[in-house]
Amino acid sequence: MPHDLPKAYDPAAIEDHWAEYWVRENLFAQPAPDPTQASAQSSGEAFTVLLPPPNVTGQLHMGHMFEQAEIDIMVRWRRMTGRRALWVPGTDHAGIATQLMVERQLATEGTSRQQLGREAFEARVWEWKRHYGGAILDQMKRLGASVDWQREYFTMDDHLSVAVREAFVRLYEQGLIYRGAYIVNWCPRCQTAISDLEVVYDEHKGHLWEIRYSVLDTLGQDSGEYITVATTRPETMLGDVAVAIHPEDERYLHLHGKKLRLPLMGLEIPIILDEWVSRDFGTGAVKVTPAHDPNDFALGERHHLPSINVMDDTGHINENGGAYAGLDRYVARKRIVADLETQGLLGAIKDHTNNVGHCDRCKTVVEPRLSTQWFIKIQPLAEKAISAVKQGHIRITPEQYEKTYLNWMENIHDWCISRQLWWGHRIPAWHCATCHKTTVARVDPTACSHCGSAQVTQETDVLDTWFSSGLLPVSVFCWPNINAENRADFDAFYPTSLLITGFDILFFWVARMIMFGCWFSKDIPMPDGSPRSLADSVPFREVYIHALVRDANREKMSKTKGNVVDPIEIVKQYGTDAVRFTLASMASPGTDIAFNIARTEGYRAFANKIWNAARFIFMNVDRAEEIGIKVDSAALGGMPTVAADAPLEARWIVAELHATAGKVNQALENYRFDDAANLIYQFFWGSFCDWYLEIVKLRLDFSETADKAKTTAALTILLQVFETALRLLSPFMPFLTEELWHAIYDGNPPAKSIALTRYPKMNEAVVGALIPTGMVIIQNLVIDIRALRKERDVPEKEHVPVVLFLSDRSNKVFQRNIDVVRHLAKVTEVVSKPLDFMSSRPGRRRGLGWDVDIDYETTIDVAAERDRLTKDIAKYEKGLASAERQLGNEGFLAKAPAHVVEGLKKQEAETRLLLEKARAALEALPKE
Ligand SMILES: [Zn+2]
Ligand SMILES: [Zn+2]
Repeated sequence: MPHDLPKAYDPAAIEDHWAEYWVRENLFAQPAPDPTQASAQSSGEAFTVLLPPPNVTGQLHMGHMFEQAEIDIMVRWRRMTGRRALWVPGTDHAGIATQLMVERQLATEGTSRQQLGREAFEARVWEWKRHYGGAILDQMKRLGASVDWQREYFTMDDHLSVAVREAFVRLYEQGLIYRGAYIVNWCPRCQTAISDLEVVYDEHKGHLWEIRYSVLDTLGQDSGEYITVATTRPETMLGDVAVAIHPEDERYLHLHGKKLRLPLMGLEIPIILDEWVSRDFGTGAVKVTPAHDPNDFALGERHHLPSINVMDDTGHINENGGAYAGLDRYVARKRIVADLETQGLLGAIKDHTNNVGHCDRCKTVVEPRLSTQWFIKIQPLAEKAISAVKQGHIRITPEQYEKTYLNWMENIHDWCISRQLWWGHRIPAWHCATCHKTTVARVDPTACSHCGSAQVTQETDVLDTWFSSGLLPVSVFCWPNINAENRADFDAFYPTSLLITGFDILFFWVARMIMFGCWFSKDIPMPDGSPRSLADSVPFREVYIHALVRDANREKMSKTKGNVVDPIEIVKQYGTDAVRFTLASMASPGTDIAFNIARTEGYRAFANKIWNAARFIFMNVDRAEEIGIKVDSAALGGMPTVAADAPLEARWIVAELHATAGKVNQALENYRFDDAANLIYQFFWGSFCDWYLEIVKLRLDFSETADKAKTTAALTILLQVFETALRLLSPFMPFLTEELWHAIYDGNPPAKSIALTRYPKMNEAVVGALIPTGMVIIQNLVIDIRALRKERDVPEKEHVPVVLFLSDRSNKVFQRNIDVVRHLAKVTEVVSKPLDFMSSRPGRRRGLGWDVDIDYETTIDVAAERDRLTKDIAKYEKGLASAERQLGNEGFLAKAPAHVVEGLKKQEAETRLLLEKARAALEALPKE
């Protein structure tokens, strides 16, 4: 006997309970399979997903909730289809973000990381992590994410750090890591290099300053002639080492080989000739500052010019900047412009809009600056990663992102992997004070590997955070320490099956995982000992790039706009299930979501509707038990079938259920979360609650005279369909379905969770054998009678007699289901007559196979009726014209599938019939 449900659906009351139960029972743990034991656990193909690790500093936002809802739906669904599903959770140490957070905290205490020193600072960050680091995963637990919590990782964990170190050393040994001075994007606030991807460009209204450089004569004196250059960053002129012109620029031919005086600094600098200079741009002369511009750096290399760095790590002018040393870069800019003007060396100042790069983390303007950094020679890794996608070993959905990915990979630059931070994986390289060479090692060295000197100090830089997260697909499965004991894990779960993530980290993370995954796993033999092919080296087989969640007006959510929706607040109000369903119902590949609370309210009502249906069903189960009818729970858990002679509604609902299950599985295969959710919604609310439950009330006869066999059969189908529908809905609304499913079994469920049962699957034979078109006739007949009742203002509860004019076919169906029509349309007696549409009289409702009239005292509003009929006629005429046009189009007929053409022909015939009927009825109206 199912247990009693509280009267009202209260998500808060059930969700906390189940969320806690799933974690406590370790329901979604997926241990490494034991190859010596063929248990249920170790059977089934694996379905592995990595959670895009949120920053350890993170708080759950709508984007996370959306991403995790999609992943959870996929994982729950695959698990229920029999796959060995594993979802691995974890958090990222997020170098810059976390360091920034703790630095801010220190600032409020009046101290700084420099004052603390490196070790104490690192300890402080760990302490911070222990206190606040788990917040986002706790939120995930509350939202019911079906992850394996026993595998939770943090990218700074020891076993993951080992992987980071091994990867670095191996790449270094392979000659793919080098150190050198290059122009990098420098953030003066964070005081670290940042990658191109971490720079966000904004249009800035600035100026273009023209500066005049004096040409020197053979004696080194000002000749009275000038070359004018233009710049958006005048302060960089302090580090100028030349002015470049095009060798064929006629304006300057006479200046070849001459020197210039660098204003303010007084230094002599050469004029150099380079074809890279554009003659058409500005004056055709450009200042060359190799230490502060990537193009100038290349020019400097070509002409063997020195690089003079004029700024320090904080964006202040350094000792190379002469009188300007110590000034902030923007203060220096103002002073330099003023001094140039005083000396008559300033030309025009023009308004200029340019793209200025900002640090993604702190929004400070980034300074391109020469700096010694560590790089990965990316080409050989990129080549494999390109092949993996081009050869179809990784499929990217939506397809357009495949192009974006390939385009980026084909133009990729060497990856600057060093960061001047204290929080992160410290680079395992030791510099020797004696021979100045570098030792890179797996184990901390005490002496230089080149000269044996003990004067070695470790590199202070740490690795880019994406270096460690790029390794996750291999490192979470024990790489590089894969041995006989633990390799079952790697064998079972690598390559992972699917990655669901956002477009914003396609390059940061997805591309790096592909490069690292293909590179490092290729050395791990297959379980049978054979070499690993590229196809099996990929870190995942599918990538699904999800869309963005925007506000109801399709605006991007942002704190400054104040339109951010806090998922935790919405969940408190409507329940996780309703929010998940809202997100799913709008999620289709490549389409952003306009999150609208009205929809969540609607899905809260949907959950409520299912709750009430359960209460109704359980009440009937109880009543049945009172007269000795009991449905064996062994009859539940599969896909329902019915006998051919079962009542119409039973055959119909079972066929609908099978068909819906078929379509939902298909939709999920194609990441059509929206279609899947909407199909289930239609089935549950429309077919099951609105029609089937209403009809089945007639069959649940518990009276003395009841035919017990019939009642039992009806109750069985009812329970079977309901239980199956709950399983169908479960990945979308895991909490509600868990609660009701347990209630069905009243403490004796066949599994620990509905999530561990099987997902409904269509049986085509069942659908084919059952298709009862009769139900469509009954539904439409009821809809017509209901509409007519409304038109005639029949009070809701009143039962009235009706007159039906029926075609032979409709009559047959009707006679068999007369009780259903009477019940659903609140009809007392029915007079049925043969359909004779020529006798159509005003006020009747006209269907394809019937006319309906109700016997109710009322006068017909002739004007309104004429109005209605005129509108109907116009509608039918339009429909008919369109169908005729299509059927007359030979091109269309040649291309369209046969069933489409058939459908169109049928529609044309039906519309014509309805049109004739409406015309006849209009004719029959009394003339004014
Ligand atoms: Zn910054
Ligand atoms: Zn040495």
